[in-house]
Amino acid sequence: MTQIRPRGAVAPLRRPAASFRRPTVDAVVAALRPEEPLHCLRPAAVTAAARAFVAAFPGDVLYAVKCNAEPTMLRAIAAGGVAHFDCASEAEVRLVRSLFPDAAIHFMHPVKSRGAIRAAWAQHGVRDFVLDTDGELTKILQETGGGAGELGLVVRLALPKGSAAYDLSGKFGAAPAEAAALLRAARPHAARLGLSFHVGSQCLDPAAWTRAIALAAEVIAAAGVAIEVVDVGGGFPVAYPGSEPPALSAFMEAIRAGAALLPPGVRLWAEPGRALVAGGASVVVQVQARRGDSLYVNDGVYGALSDAGAPGFRFPHRLIRGGEPASDVTRAFTLFGPTCDSADVMRGPWELPADVREGDWIEIGQLGAYGTALRTAFNGFDRAHVTEVSDSPMLATPGYEASAPARAA
Ligand SMILES: *Cc1c(COP(=O)(O)O)cnc(C)c1O
Repeated sequence: MTQIRPRGAVAPLRRPAASFRRPTVDAVVAALRPEEPLHCLRPAAVTAAARAFVAAFPGDVLYAVKCNAEPTMLRAIAAGGVAHFDCASEAEVRLVRSLFPDAAIHFMHPVKSRGAIRAAWAQHGVRDFVLDTDGELTKILQETGGGAGELGLVVRLALPKGSAAYDLSGKFGAAPAEAAALLRAARPHAARLGLSFHVGSQCLDPAAWTRAIALAAEVIAAAGVAIEVVDVGGGFPVAYPGSEPPALSAFMEAIRAGAALLPPGVRLWAEPGRALVAGGASVVVQVQARRGDSLYVNDGVYGALSDAGAPGFRFPHRLIRGGEPASDVTRAFTLFGPTCDSADVMRGPWELPADVREGDWIEIGQLGAYGTALRTAFNGFDRAHVTEVSDSPMLATPGYEASAPARAA
């Protein structure tokens, strides 16, 4: 049991001994009776999801570290066969390098500080850098001394706005004509030249990848230069209540259909985040007050539950009560987080036993992705416990279930 700190300040977890048997969530709650949010990590589920993705994807799998940078999760992902990491900051690069001396680290943020480029290149052995402007290309070439014949350059292509839950097309990426020009400009400096895109996070439509790869093929043809890599980004969805995505295999078929349009010999990369880790953590919150259909709990949108706030994601959940059983009758509740901000509300609706009361706990699942990673210290509510459990994910996503017995990371 370790305290964790907010906003990427990743506290090291104690590594379980080989003989360690993880307890269940219920056992931990019964023993600890936690008054602070309890993060329950499921490393075996993360390893199984990583292994399923690696087996299905026809290319290299880069884990998008921003989604969850807990060392336990990173080790579980590596145990599933992922040897590449998509980092967006010098701190992420340093963390991954400290855990995995031999991993391939790719710096996939299109706008980097000069110091971060320099440190990644010279101290951490990063060779691949993304860009979406001429200015960034200049920075990368200057800070890597021209790349010494080892530089990988990846041009980020902007996509038209799609149907993903989180649109990622507004902030980064070069328009097709610009991207073609950048590929031509980068070619003479690149030992490896690539084109990347991101269809948007939690994208439920496999055809989005076919369309995006087809656009990439047009850009490559327009550029008129050879390229080695097409990076199909992240965005692979997981199940949430009321939203069951197509199976992983449907996304892989759509990617193969697009890849048939690419010049022969182009290698594929993918950058999944959410799909590898979402099922790998839940958070147990405690009810501190009930007012009618409103429950005041000890974590909220400034903690691990930001996607349950304005973005309106729904999460699997269940009541945990020590002692006598809860009512069989359920009703819909609204949750309020612990800060004094009235935006700290999660409307759900959260279907729970009608007699839920102060002191009960609620386990909330699918929080391995963009849960822990988004915590803040706002209003002083930055304390939490973290533990590893043997439970399965609270909701299975088709295609990611353990096909072989999951082994501990
Ligand atoms: C956030 C991000 C990812 C991961 O996206 P998911 O939707 O979590 O799979 C991958 N690549 C880039 C460049 C990102 O910014």
